Amino acid sequence: MKLRVVVLGAGFGGLELSTILSETIGEQIDLTLIDQNDSFFFGFSKLDVAFGRQLPDAVKIPYSSIVKPGVKFRKEAITAIDPVAKRVTTQSAIYDADVIVIALGADYDLDATPGLAETGNEFYSFPGAEKLREILPSFTKGHAIVGVCGAPFKCPPAPSEAALLLHDHLTKLGVREACTISLVMPFGLPIPPSPGTSKALLKAFQQRNIQFIAQRKVHSLAASGRVVMLDDGTELPCDLFLGIPKHVAPKVVLQSGLAENGWIPVNRTNLLTRFPGVYAIGDVTSIGTPKAGVFAEGAAKIAAASIIAAFNGNENSTGYNGAGTCYIEYGNGEVGKVDVDFFSGPKPVGIHHEPSEAMVADKAFFGSSRKARWFGI
Ligand SMILES: Cc1cc2nc3c(=O)[nH]c(=O)nc-3n(C[C@H](O)[C@H](O)[C@H](O)COP(=O)(O)OP(=O)(O)OC[C@H]3O[C@@H](n4cnc5c(N)ncnc54)[C@H](O)[C@@H]3O)c2cc1C
Repeated sequence: MKLRVVVLGAGFGGLELSTILSETIGEQIDLTLIDQNDSFFFGFSKLDVAFGRQLPDAVKIPYSSIVKPGVKFRKEAITAIDPVAKRVTTQSAIYDADVIVIALGADYDLDATPGLAETGNEFYSFPGAEKLREILPSFTKGHAIVGVCGAPFKCPPAPSEAALLLHDHLTKLGVREACTISLVMPFGLPIPPSPGTSKALLKAFQQRNIQFIAQRKVHSLAASGRVVMLDDGTELPCDLFLGIPKHVAPKVVLQSGLAENGWIPVNRTNLLTRFPGVYAIGDVTSIGTPKAGVFAEGAAKIAAASIIAAFNGNENSTGYNGAGTCYIEYGNGEVGKVDVDFFSGPKPVGIHHEPSEAMVADKAFFGSSRKARWFGI
């Protein structure tokens, strides 16, 4: 009898986990990988699309490219998860499993920020990034605000990257002098676990005249988006709002009984939820790392090792260390990186690597190596 594995979500976590299981025990599994989309794109591609560096279609990688022993991809929307019966329902089928892996990521709740859906922009969803791409060329003077509306949010460096790329964009357009840029962040520093990276980013903001507003979140947008209200009552004038919406677990997860306080709690040693045979990885969990692809990928490795060990009648002894590398766009053709480790020591540590042109190739390899590994292209 083959092990029936159903993987919910073909993002960073689901793709890595399916790849490992296929490579290791592909002949002995019947793995169904389900996603509502027909293609994958990296989170950072949304910045490329929004700032006109890449065409939307150029960054999409079709799931039809996946050809792996033991794996079949299904483009379906998941409508129910029963973690006790280990049954997954989609809009067109029902899957009974021996092992379920939930890798459904995080959704956005735009309505949690009054005025955002009606009068603001967000660049965290693909359609949001595509819309921003159309709007940006017409912004030539006034106040631009990149603002975080809720925490936790994906990829903590992304708001800083957006502010820096916006500076580049306005400079190229020749209108930078006519515009202000402010960045509203809920942290005291841009990247709290890495003082070195935070210092480098604060210096980059200062050099580019970007105002960093620390320890604040955006509460709402008023006056048809012309005023941004912060959570302490401060009002900022605004002509262009680039929002990072409040994140929530997908509705199907919240309805499944798997979540507590909004996200799925997991055991850090094996990524199991409180339901036997049901694992959760990546942004949908409350594991304690930031919501980022590298951490979803790291968790996928441990979940896969646990599934393989259990299949062979053993236990996986390597726990999840919450370590990963994040690349950061500084604009001006430069990329830096930070190596972060959340669980190995008593507190999170982040090692700063100076931005350089050479790091651009490192980041490109990060993307191309995953594309090759997960899609064979
Ligand atoms: C602007 C931006 C820049 C970023 N830059 C980086 C970066 O440089 N490095 C980095 O590591 N991370 C980055 N990230 C974060 C990264 O994209 C996510 O953290 C990562 O994709 C999370 O992986 P995941 O597997 O948990 O979920 P996801 O990759 O989000 O995958 C979840 C999948 O589940 C599917 N799904 C959800 N609900 C359903 C349903 N009901 N039915 C069927 N399918 C469903 C979705 O379609 C999706 O494909 C960035 C994010 C943004 C927004």
